[in-house]
Amino acid sequence: MPIATVNPATGETLKSFGAMGPEEVERRLATAGTVFAGYRTTSFEQRARLVLRAAELLDADRDDIARTMTLEMGKPVVAARAEAAKCAKALRWYAEHAAELLADEEPDEDDVRDSGAERARIHYRPLGVVLAVMPWNFPLWQVVRFAAPALMAGNVALLKHASNVPQTALYLEDLFRRAGFPDGCFQTLLIGSDGVEKVLRDPRVAAATLTGSEPAGRSVAAICGDEIKKTVLELGGSDPYVVLASADVERAARTAVTARTQNNGQSCIAAKRFIVQDGVYDAFAEQFTAGMRELRVGDPLDDDTDIGPLASEQGRTDLEELVEDAVRKGATALCGGSRPEGLDGGWFYRPTVLAGITADMRIHHEETFGPVATLYRVRDLDEAISVANDTPFGLSSNVWTRDGGEVDRCVRDLQAGGVFFNGMTASHPALPFGGVKRSGYGRELSGHGIREFCNVTTVWHG
Ligand code: NDP
Repeated sequence: MPIATVNPATGETLKSFGAMGPEEVERRLATAGTVFAGYRTTSFEQRARLVLRAAELLDADRDDIARTMTLEMGKPVVAARAEAAKCAKALRWYAEHAAELLADEEPDEDDVRDSGAERARIHYRPLGVVLAVMPWNFPLWQVVRFAAPALMAGNVALLKHASNVPQTALYLEDLFRRAGFPDGCFQTLLIGSDGVEKVLRDPRVAAATLTGSEPAGRSVAAICGDEIKKTVLELGGSDPYVVLASADVERAARTAVTARTQNNGQSCIAAKRFIVQDGVYDAFAEQFTAGMRELRVGDPLDDDTDIGPLASEQGRTDLEELVEDAVRKGATALCGGSRPEGLDGGWFYRPTVLAGITADMRIHHEETFGPVATLYRVRDLDEAISVANDTPFGLSSNVWTRDGGEVDRCVRDLQAGGVFFNGMTASHPALPFGGVKRSGYGRELSGHGIREFCNVTTVWHG
């Protein structure tokens, strides 16, 4: 895949980059290794000052970096600005909370004595150089979500970003440099995916995190497994959005439109499968479809656009194939199901709702990365949970109900890293984020996220 900015709204190549050669990659690895030796000994206060400065700079750069993201991957510019603001918030949150999240822990006194110690404590030390392999869909947020805790914990970062967002990747390196981080604390490697293995096997690299597709995750995890290096994987999702008869259907339908189409439908935590109980199915289907129909598809640089193009031509082809397979096997498109007219230059696709989904359709098991929703009609809660869990993925889930018993059942039985009631899944710095099954393992954000790349050290005094 060429390393280049190709505007998804027009198909035009705006800027191309050559991949870094082996000498440049080696120089960057060496710098990372050297800087870690000193950076690991800095205090939380020192790190927080730098991270807060990065947040300030990011706020000042918001409009420019938002435009760059939109030109690189097609998200509506309003959403791109919101993404930049969210990143600044996460930087501030970790600057404020890291010291407390990584404070030494004192085990129970009786247990300490029982272990034969005078005193003992648990100490969190940084692991070292962490390689982040990141995707294009939230090109700023996916990186900052990793970098803010990693840098606050005293780790240093190498970024291998997706090949279609090189300008955002270079911006991130520049941001942390301007914030005053020592040279090499955060570096971007402009390399293709074929250059990742060499970096992962380098002894100066301690661990890796990847957000992206299953094949990419499997490859990185296999190499790191071979090297016995820690990984965190955040892969795809096909989140259920369950609407039960006790729900506020109008709100559920309105929120469903955003939950499915945020980021042009290219979000791992987007609701993708809409599982609706019999008594409210018709009302929900009608209101949801009407909401999807009303969305404005068009130029993502226009503040009034709801849905921009998909990030790549291949992404749109993959989505079209899933829809065509479903329709061929009997699904009905309640809206959409094709490309919009008059937007021929870019990789646009109309917001689509498919009903009548059956298990033999690819779309039942595979992730739809675009504005396509599937609708399921279910009898009761048991069937809703069974359909919700009938997926290889387990990232998050949404349930609309006003019944406490139904809440308890869903918390107990839904196979996912999150259960969001009466609202859509969204990440927040204070809440752990990650999945089970083929959605990956490990957690980002919150105290759980910052401890993933720490050496949890037992300190025992006899
Ligand atoms: P990829 O998983 O291919 O890309 C994500 C990142 O991984 C990129 O930096 C990519 O680099 C890199 N990468 C790809 N293959 C390898 C590999 N074998 N070893 C090491 N690194 C690798 O995602 P795509 O862009 O191809 O999207 C395909 C599908 O993945 C989507 O349709 C969606 O289902 C899922 N996806 C999920 C995301 C999420 O948020 N969970 C985000 C993006 C995609 P390069 O760009 O150079 O190939």
